Amino acid sequence: MPMNALDTSAAPRTAIHRQADFSLSDYRALIADLQGLGYRDTPLEGLVPDRRLVFLRHDVDLCIARALRVAEEEANLGVSASYYVLVSTEMYNPASAQSRDQLRRLRDLGHRIGLHFDATFYHNERTALETAADEECAILERLSGGPVDSISFHRPAPELMGLAGEFAGRRHTYEPNVFTEVAYISDSSGGFFQGHPLDHPSVTAGRALQLLTHPIWWADDLATPSRLALDRMRGERTDALDRVLAAATAKAKTRSAKAG
Ligand SMILES: [Zn+2]
Repeated sequence: MPMNALDTSAAPRTAIHRQADFSLSDYRALIADLQGLGYRDTPLEGLVPDRRLVFLRHDVDLCIARALRVAEEEANLGVSASYYVLVSTEMYNPASAQSRDQLRRLRDLGHRIGLHFDATFYHNERTALETAADEECAILERLSGGPVDSISFHRPAPELMGLAGEFAGRRHTYEPNVFTEVAYISDSSGGFFQGHPLDHPSVTAGRALQLLTHPIWWADDLATPSRLALDRMRGERTDALDRVLAAATAKAKTRSAKAG
């Protein structure tokens, strides 16, 4: 996919949205407003501080299907993002047939896949952590059918924030030149609690951004996203578990009837 069809010479528009809610249409408005201000999407390695560039990062903490909904919207807007996917998690199974299809679809839409690395599962020693991250990257490459060339840390320990240089032979999202030397804006906990991205001084100054959003907050079109989004996801998981348990119980009943 071409990077996008932005005209970076266009004069910044003045019609700026400030979303009260988090929804797919609010996300579309946010990206469209950044485009209107002359911002162009870039992968991690293209981020330089003094240009109107935005690195669109998504940490997939809870649900790959919801990430795909955001990815479809981005593709419609002609922008490419990076989706950081967990391998060691109890929240989803990246190796399921459905997940593998979804990961490949993310790539087909023109997005990149990186590793979302949870260091708490491993011995807290740098070499051991890098070996583990490299192994998880290899797994994710096989599952997603393409390269995994950057890493974001899940709930990073202080020593990983601002870590200079590569990690496990790959770029990572907390390197000073993409984390402290450019504006870093996050929707952690379901809100822009440090201020709306469009109000950030770096946007006013036309400087680069790393914009971290979590698809779980945006994909369900809910007015008050954090609790309702999690409730909806919990309901889906419960339904799926009920179906599996009902099937298992039915088989057990059939077996005991035959035995009887
Ligand atoms: Zn995370």
